[in-house]
Amino acid sequence: MAIPTTGDMTPNPRAESSYLLKPNLSTNYPVVDRGEGPYLFDTAGRRYFDGSSGAMTANLGHGLKEIADQMAAQASTVAFTFRNQFSNVAAEELARKLCQLAPGDLDRAFFVNSGSEASEYAIRMSIHYWKERGQPNRTKILGRLTSYHGMTMGALSISGHAGRRPDYGPLLHDFASVPPAYCYRCPFGLEPDGCATECADAWETAIAAHGADNVAAVIAEPIVGAAGGVLVPPPGYFRRLREICDRHDILLIADEVITGIGRTGTWFASATEGIVPDLLLLAKGMSAGYTPMAAVLVGQRIVDVIAQGSGSVPFGHTFSANPLSASICASVIDYIEHNDVLDNVNARGAELRDGLAALSQRHACMVDVRGRGLLWGFELVRDRASRRLFDAALNAAGELVAACLDHGLVVYPAGIAPLNNAIIVAPPLIVTTEQVGELLAKLGAALRDFEAGIAAP
Ligand code: PMP
Repeated sequence: MAIPTTGDMTPNPRAESSYLLKPNLSTNYPVVDRGEGPYLFDTAGRRYFDGSSGAMTANLGHGLKEIADQMAAQASTVAFTFRNQFSNVAAEELARKLCQLAPGDLDRAFFVNSGSEASEYAIRMSIHYWKERGQPNRTKILGRLTSYHGMTMGALSISGHAGRRPDYGPLLHDFASVPPAYCYRCPFGLEPDGCATECADAWETAIAAHGADNVAAVIAEPIVGAAGGVLVPPPGYFRRLREICDRHDILLIADEVITGIGRTGTWFASATEGIVPDLLLLAKGMSAGYTPMAAVLVGQRIVDVIAQGSGSVPFGHTFSANPLSASICASVIDYIEHNDVLDNVNARGAELRDGLAALSQRHACMVDVRGRGLLWGFELVRDRASRRLFDAALNAAGELVAACLDHGLVVYPAGIAPLNNAIIVAPPLIVTTEQVGELLAKLGAALRDFEAGIAAP
């Protein structure tokens, strides 16, 4: 940018607008200047109820003093050490906490900076593991059609959501081919009470199609978030997937970027079926949005193979395991433990579920309320009986999000491509009963506006 010299009175063309490049060039984003609990405030003085915790991330709400104090204390102690030169007390402590909370032999943690990097690391780690075991052909990582694992090229290759996977041509592999566990729109045309988890068996079909000897790992979210609008698999799905992986000696990667660290009422959603993945990804809620940080928890049996082989795991990034971020994440876990946050998730989650179900009774367009803990989704349909979607041109999910915003409520548009057909409601895990009521009242008002605006068939 040319800096105006003295006497140059040409007005800077951007002086009144923004230099920040934002995802949608034609949208005027509100500019936030502060947050408190589940609320955000913009520079125009408007208050927003953060009903989706941003992108299911700000799990402890905004402006938490305990976290800010820990941040300041760590920053003035030591903020950065480089992973190839030192370990550090904060990262050691965070790894210990996570591995002690995690199931089975997930006894090692590698730190990166985003969910996408966690996916990339898991891809590299899986391929590395098979090389160490003398099977270098095992390089494929299979994923599901309705899934999202990140925006970097490897993570996109294992993500199946067409709308999130623009055509980057030969840079992407076609690894996401398994039909989703999507009960409301079952890809096998079944209803939950007449199904034998065909969607889980579909993994075996895909493994056979790619050749088990070429497959390093499979990746799945215990509950699909943004790519499906909260898809809860049928009971037994992950146990079946674990069996299939064991039979073919394929690693199972659980992407708990959204579900991990309490969002669904347990520390890890994969624990719901008692399975132990070989690698487990964490991001978003691990830092509750207070710093960019992510983790890959790695099974000890993988580390043992590498220890007996080359002895070195794939690299990380410059900021991997930096003490400042690690201490913030450790304080997030402490906060959850010391304030009975998981109990709150289960109690407030039941209130939210009941309230959403009641709204669905009143609003014919709102169907299939689904979720667990404080992660809920529902779909928008033109016709309940046939489950027919609104015409894409109406941008129904976008319209409802806008109507919510008019009432000061932020919710998250999600669902199947090409256009979102679902809404995610996932407030911070510290919401009170009164705040759940406030969220539901705002959503109810927005649904009334939405129906009035979009009602004509
Ligand atoms: N995995 C899942 C399940 C996600 O929802 C996301 C982000 N929405 C990612 C991975 C990628 O995380 P990030 O945006 O931090 O790179």
